[in-house]
Amino acid sequence: MMTINTNSELSQVPFVGVNQMVNLVNTLGIKPLLSGLIDYLEQDFKQWQGFDKSPRYAAHSPEGVIELMPTGNHDKFSFKYVNGHPKNTKQGLQTVTAFGVLSDVDTGYPLLISEMTLLTALRTAATSAMMAKYLAPKGASTMAMIGCGAQSEFQAIAFNHIIGIDTVRLYDVEPEAITKCQQNLKLYDIRVIACESAQQAVTGADIITTCTADKKNATILTSDMVKDAVYINAIGGDCPGKTELEDKLLMRANVFVEYEPQTRIEGDIQQLNSDSPITEMHQVITGEKQGRTSQDELIIFDGVGFAVEDYSALRFIYDLVKENNDIQTLDLLANPQDPRNLFGITV
Ligand code: NAD
Repeated sequence: MMTINTNSELSQVPFVGVNQMVNLVNTLGIKPLLSGLIDYLEQDFKQWQGFDKSPRYAAHSPEGVIELMPTGNHDKFSFKYVNGHPKNTKQGLQTVTAFGVLSDVDTGYPLLISEMTLLTALRTAATSAMMAKYLAPKGASTMAMIGCGAQSEFQAIAFNHIIGIDTVRLYDVEPEAITKCQQNLKLYDIRVIACESAQQAVTGADIITTCTADKKNATILTSDMVKDAVYINAIGGDCPGKTELEDKLLMRANVFVEYEPQTRIEGDIQQLNSDSPITEMHQVITGEKQGRTSQDELIIFDGVGFAVEDYSALRFIYDLVKENNDIQTLDLLANPQDPRNLFGITV
């Protein structure tokens, strides 16, 4: 009888569950984690041409979407499974949950399986702050945060740590979401102001982050609410028929995106003509194109979340845990002594 060597390294795949991710956040600290993620993101955005890229696969249903986000290069491959169901919170469930896999391209074997609900919030905040390094006005100190759900604290902390924001003006249609965000941010050196409308929140803000969840073409920001010399980090509109910005506002601004073919389908720019001018951020990060050129410019980052960001996040977590002997593993891969005798392990 063939034996499965379940203790063999080859059958075990490192697994980072939610508890382990929480431990990483607590032991390393959220700010060093965000900085580390940004290092990995910048490395990978600089190697943009080496990635296989495509708009993500999206299975839409009346209340939400389930997406698969694959990418890879000569070295590693990754994919994330993620959902977006804005009405979930009404039943005590989250809008966004996710997990992902990082694999070795040479053997095709998985190197890591990870929870990615927390990791998505961290990578999205790191991505937003990284883009803001190139696009936000110099000396920005106040950010309006519209939408105070699961992503919001991560965004506020990332902009405080990386950009130097010291004041956050919060608004959400649900007052308890504002209170929750305000409470959570008490641990940080950030002045938090609760606002009663989106208009009040954006007053005096140098940066506006929109991170709302609603499965419709919403208008969180109209053009007349926003002055020039502002940076808008618009990350909540990320599906066909799910937008946050008025088209007139988009037409007034210089718009930056992650990967044009996906953002044309999912981003706020789905409202514009397919040839409206945009710049892909990898061009800015490599220095091929300029980000912000003057303090007076109105700039929008139309962020939808792209697979390369998840690749960077998984690569970062893998490098953090791969030497860790305490890491959990999953008995995921059959490992017959004779690799062609798979049947043998069943008898
Ligand atoms: P969440 O459901 O936890 O929070 C969303 C918040 O938006 C809720 O508190 C809700 O009350 C509020 N809201 C809804 N409509 C509003 C309105 N008109 N004005 C003000 N507030 C409003 O969701 P989340 O996990 O924080 O995600 C927020 C959005 O960001 C989702 O649409 C999600 O798909 C998107 N997202 C994008 C990325 C990315 O990479 N771009 C990553 C993660 C999540």
